[in-house]
Amino acid sequence: MLRMTTVAVALVLSLSAAAKARAESDDEAKTKIDEFNKAFAAKDESARVAAVEALAPVMNASVSKVLAGLLARDTQDVRIAAAKALGRVADDAAITGLSGAIEANKKMPEVQKAILSALGSTDSEKALPAIHKMFDKYKDGVAAAAVDAADKICSPASIDVLMEVFHKADLEKAKASGASGSNQDTPNRDIEDLFDPTKKTLGDITGGSEVSYKGWKEWYKKEGGKLKWTSVYWCPGTQKEFDVAPGAQKLCPNDGDKVKGCGVFLKKKPAP
Ligand SMILES: [Zn+2]
Repeated sequence: MLRMTTVAVALVLSLSAAAKARAESDDEAKTKIDEFNKAFAAKDESARVAAVEALAPVMNASVSKVLAGLLARDTQDVRIAAAKALGRVADDAAITGLSGAIEANKKMPEVQKAILSALGSTDSEKALPAIHKMFDKYKDGVAAAAVDAADKICSPASIDVLMEVFHKADLEKAKASGASGSNQDTPNRDIEDLFDPTKKTLGDITGGSEVSYKGWKEWYKKEGGKLKWTSVYWCPGTQKEFDVAPGAQKLCPNDGDKVKGCGVFLKKKPAP
């Protein structure tokens, strides 16, 4: 059920992307960037946010670079708008830009959360190292946003590090319920709060439904090796994703696999 929601969201995203027939050429992108630069010179913050939003649908790596350059300067709202815009593309410039801007926004947790959400929206395993790094930033809900981002991507590459977080959250939960045997243990609520999101994400990735760390560890030891993974690729020509079942041949159904450079690997996901 939870996984169906993820699939449904991914479908909506790919359908909205499908409304665009193709990626913009470099010349078209240059025209749009020139227009953006003029509009972005405005003093008014909401006008700058609008300029970012107007540039967002233009699919071209040079646009991703312009947007990435905004993540560590300007106001919080402008940074968040740029992060959201970058989440719509899965190109390397977007992922590198988003990943590299997290540290610079240490004092702006709302921006960090928007960046993490955008990294999740890229749907690429390349976004995972930056996401996993934030699993222990418990304050202000940053770690929870990182777990949500990993849930969006739903890749087996997150399992081990999620298990570690789930273990820590399980220990805090035990303290909170007094099950740890010591009354003097004060639970860390920020870590305990990660119990449900990590449990959900582990379930979405593996299909398992254990309710404790111990149960998960045992279940995964027994079942982990039997899980099958579908590979997900991206077709830059049509801006659409496509799945390749375990053991099947990679063939793009969107444009007949005729376009050079088609089939950029995004991630693995649970096979249906
Ligand atoms: Zn294709």
